Amino acid sequence: MKRRDFFEKSGCGLFTTMLAYFSLTSCKKEEEAPAVEEQAPAPKEEISQKEMVKKMLMEKQGMTEEEANAKIAEFEEKLPMVKNACICKACPTFVAEETELAFCHPLIGKSKIITEEKGCDCPKCPVYQQMGMKNGYYCTRKSEMEQEMAKIT
Ligand code: SF4
Ligand code: SF4
Repeated sequence: MKRRDFFEKSGCGLFTTMLAYFSLTSCKKEEEAPAVEEQAPAPKEEISQKEMVKKMLMEKQGMTEEEANAKIAEFEEKLPMVKNACICKACPTFVAEETELAFCHPLIGKSKIITEEKGCDCPKCPVYQQMGMKNGYYCTRKSEMEQEMAKIT
C-alpha cells in the first residue's frame, strides 16, 4: 500500500516495470548476403524518459495514447514539487556538474553524470518520507518505481 501511496501522491501510479521495456530491442540476425559494401550500423535511437514512460503506459498498462498523455501530464504537474523539496544537492554522492534533481521521480530517473555512490541522503528527504519510499541512490540506480518494479520481475 505504501508504494501505491507514493505512486498516487507523486503521480507515479499504474506502472509496470520499466526494466522490461529496456529489453525491447531488436536483435535480428545478420543473414549471409552478397554484400557489395559494408553498411555502418544504424545509429541507436535515443528515447527520452517521457517517451519511455508513455510507451510503457500504453504497452504494459493498456492505456490509450490519450490516457497515457493525461498520465504524463499528471507526472509533469507533480515534478516541480518533488524538485523543490529534493535535497540531492547536499548529498555526498551529488556532483557539481549535475544540473538535474528528483532522480526518484519516474520522469527523471537515473543521472547521466553521477556514477560513484558515496552515501545517499534520500531517507532524510521529505519527499522520501511522505511517499514512504523504500529504496535510494536514485541517481545511480533509477527511480523508485523502476527499483520497486525490478524486485517483482
Ligand atoms: S527522495 Fe532523493 S531524489 Fe527524491 S526528491 Fe528526495 S532527495 Fe531528491
Ligand atoms: S539520489 Fe540519493 S544518492 Fe543520489 S544525489 Fe540524491 S540523495 Fe544523493
